[in-house]
Amino acid sequence: MKKEVDPNFLVKQYDATNPIKINHSYLREQFEDYKQIFERLEQLVAVDTDYTLGRPVAEFEESIRRVVKTNYALGVNSGTDALFLSLKALGIKRGDEVITVPYTFFATTGAIAQTDAVPVYVDIGEDYNLNPDLKEKVISPRTKAILPVHWSGNPCDMDAIMDIAKRKGLHVVEDACQAIGARYKDRPVGSFGDAAAFSMHPLKNLNVWGDGGFLTTNSKELYDQISLLRNHGLKNRNESVVYGYNSRLDSVQAIVASQKLKSLEHITSSRIRNADFYDTLLGDIPQVTIPKRDINKKQVYHLYIIKVQDRDSLQQHLINKGIDAKVHYPIPLHLQEATRNLGYKKGDFPVAESICDSILSLPVHEYLKTEDQKYVASKIIEFYSRK
Ligand SMILES: *Cc1c(COP(=O)(O)O)cnc(C)c1O
Repeated sequence: MKKEVDPNFLVKQYDATNPIKINHSYLREQFEDYKQIFERLEQLVAVDTDYTLGRPVAEFEESIRRVVKTNYALGVNSGTDALFLSLKALGIKRGDEVITVPYTFFATTGAIAQTDAVPVYVDIGEDYNLNPDLKEKVISPRTKAILPVHWSGNPCDMDAIMDIAKRKGLHVVEDACQAIGARYKDRPVGSFGDAAAFSMHPLKNLNVWGDGGFLTTNSKELYDQISLLRNHGLKNRNESVVYGYNSRLDSVQAIVASQKLKSLEHITSSRIRNADFYDTLLGDIPQVTIPKRDINKKQVYHLYIIKVQDRDSLQQHLINKGIDAKVHYPIPLHLQEATRNLGYKKGDFPVAESICDSILSLPVHEYLKTEDQKYVASKIIEFYSRK
């Protein structure tokens, strides 16, 4: 079947959304200190030249494993590959099933599909994360792993997930792509499962100049296996012990990541402060539901997602007023064309479907000003008072 596709829709998307005044994207400000990065890049280009899996990658891995508090970290070329290689190294293959959620970014399901295993969905709860109560129902003899997503930087209920995994003998791979710095019961997400995946896509909390990611694990066996898989299965220059992939984190990106990592605490605390302030500004508006809080969870607000009445009109109103209100995302994965072969239909996951129709993400990044947030709130109040 031939379809009309725009081979690169992002160019138009950048043009359409970059001019919006109060924006989700903050990249220019974020890399204002690029000269420091350039100095380190100069060292790479003019002196060291270790572009692939060079010293900057090893240094970044050492720093990041301390942040996530795991024995090992490995730089790879994206968050998607961090998920895929973790599943692959755990032996997930055709005929296996992996439990995950229908409300997430497409890459979560894509990584499972790449292993030829079948993604099996369970609905989310009111915290927008995998509902552990529902999980037991879908566990079959073919189930091999659970892939919970710490959506928007909000930790999943890891006690319940690890408990079921242990009882049923399942692996756990955490999708922590939006959740660097988040904690569950004061322990960093990414340190609970067999392995965890993180993304450094430009729009994530810790970001680089293009694609990049890393994974964390406490298992020496997984660490060794994924070290091989990310680099053609090579145990040295001349000997390959397993079919692998090319999924290396570039030294260039590792240098950017290491510089950005120095600001992680500031980035995280600013986002939390902004989320708190939005809660105060928006908490009393009857048509708006602010994000759920849980004393056991340190949320890092990669996204600040509110549930609202009359979502599409409110979104348009805010965009007209120069506010980059976005929907992450309007179509749950079980209703996407790509997942049609999984056999799901509308009505299968009522919570996910209903929130896809009513959520709105407000800019929450560390460069947002108090006045910006007050302006956003005033425009939301204006919208509902006019009706
Ligand atoms: C961004 C993201 C990914 C994919 O990360 P990439 O680095 O873009 O490959 C996977 N899962 C979630 C939840 C994400 O937000």
